[in-house]
Amino acid sequence: MGTREIHHCSICGTCYQVQLHHVAFRSRAPLLKNIRLNFKYLCNKHHQGKNGPHKNRYVDLTYKLELQDKLFELFSKDFYSEKEIQELLNTTSSTAKKICKKLRSYKDGYSSKELVKRLMGDRIYTQEELEEVEYEDPWEGVLK
Ligand SMILES: [Zn+2]
Ligand SMILES: [Zn+2]
Repeated sequence: MGTREIHHCSICGTCYQVQLHHVAFRSRAPLLKNIRLNFKYLCNKHHQGKNGPHKNRYVDLTYKLELQDKLFELFSKDFYSEKEIQELLNTTSSTAKKICKKLRSYKDGYSSKELVKRLMGDRIYTQEELEEVEYEDPWEGVLK
């Protein structure tokens, strides 16, 4: 029998009813579905509750921007090869192939900017989007 990994909610630390959340939703960013960086463990309240990412757009966008930042940190050079992408994302060669398939191949490899955009579901999230949500958000300030 394998050992079962115990996960804690990344917000409150409980290990009770912890669920795996995909920061970039699987429907929108299927390439990230098995990538650990995209995983966030959350208890039921912090996952499905009113201040969880599925109900609160501000929280959702905050997590997505954090993920995007991590990806840009990970891919800090301008260009990467498919092999490097596979290693950095700690993924399989078939996933790496899928990721690179629609990316333009330059002389020095794949552009990190285009790569991150593709991973995030063919879009780049911005701080401005978050500020717009924050402005409309009745819970403004609660999360800080
Ligand atoms: Zn929690
Ligand atoms: Zn979720």
